[in-house]
Amino acid sequence: MAEFELIDLIARRCRHVRDDVRLGIGDDAAIVRVPPGFELAIATDTLVVGVHFPHDARAADIGWKALAVNLSDLAAMGAEPAWASLALTLPHASRGLVADLADGLGELAELHRVALIGGDTTAGPLSLTVSVQGLVPEGMALRRGGARSGDRMFVTGTLGDAAAGLHVHSHAQACAEPARADLLARLHRPTPRVAVGLALRGLATACIDVSDGLLADLAHVARASGVGMRIDADALPASAALAENFDLPTRRRWQLAGGDDYELAFTVPAGQVELLHARLAELDCRLTCIGEVVEGREVRVHDASGQTITLDQQGWEHFR
Ligand code: ADP
Ligand code: MG
Repeated sequence: MAEFELIDLIARRCRHVRDDVRLGIGDDAAIVRVPPGFELAIATDTLVVGVHFPHDARAADIGWKALAVNLSDLAAMGAEPAWASLALTLPHASRGLVADLADGLGELAELHRVALIGGDTTAGPLSLTVSVQGLVPEGMALRRGGARSGDRMFVTGTLGDAAAGLHVHSHAQACAEPARADLLARLHRPTPRVAVGLALRGLATACIDVSDGLLADLAHVARASGVGMRIDADALPASAALAENFDLPTRRRWQLAGGDDYELAFTVPAGQVELLHARLAELDCRLTCIGEVVEGREVRVHDASGQTITLDQQGWEHFR
């Protein structure tokens, strides 16, 4: 199949029209209109076969996830997704593969009114690099650096499901249906928390999406903000699928250190917590307070009895 036919196949499956796209796929560059008073938030993420998804992953899931991880970055900035481009590297010019990839990407793009406005197509091991652009009112983007001592630390959704999904992907007997399917869906089709990110504008003092694992990502916020954190391990939200199928040490390890959940972790001043709940009430997204911002530099995890928890090679361990 010729390159232009593949591009046409993608364009037809992602034809979401926005009236701010002056020039989409087909010229040397796309042209979009940025409304006055807004800034562009721009993010890029790559998924590579064998690194970010297994060789036997479904193409539609790969397409979905390639856009989802990027929309999650925009969500963490409080930006409204608008446009995307796709740099696609393909092992062979397969119509079926490209159609399935584009279907998965296009499905999520449509949900968020994102227009695919360009890209690149090359030969090589399967990989997808998506760039997204989102709109945010001037000066309103959420950043990692604004957390202050006394702020409350929140997380959306549940944690550890994607890591559990990766485990059950290779250990089919580890967990029965329908929990297995739930965990695999969380791994393959993450939900970017776009509406929550928008609702956090002017409210969250710092925000990040949980892509590398909660503790690693909170450490980024702590460093950027010049603060420490106290996280209550017993407060970490777990899905029923995770809680009912895995013991506490395993679950905790995944909740604290597993990646790929694409939830938002953010801080809100204690006096604004009521407003937070009011704003998020209609969004149908679980919200959990998991701790607080403290002075210092360290992100410390403790359990309900106050014992500090630390990670070693075997998992999470208690010590006094
Ligand atoms: P050029 O050679 O000028 O860089 P290409 O032939 O690579 O242009 O691409 C032609 C048009 O198709 C451009 O508008 C480009 O943005 C778009 N395009 C190429 N590959 C993709 C893709 N995988 N997804 C979406 N648009 C693409
Ligand atoms: Mg050109």
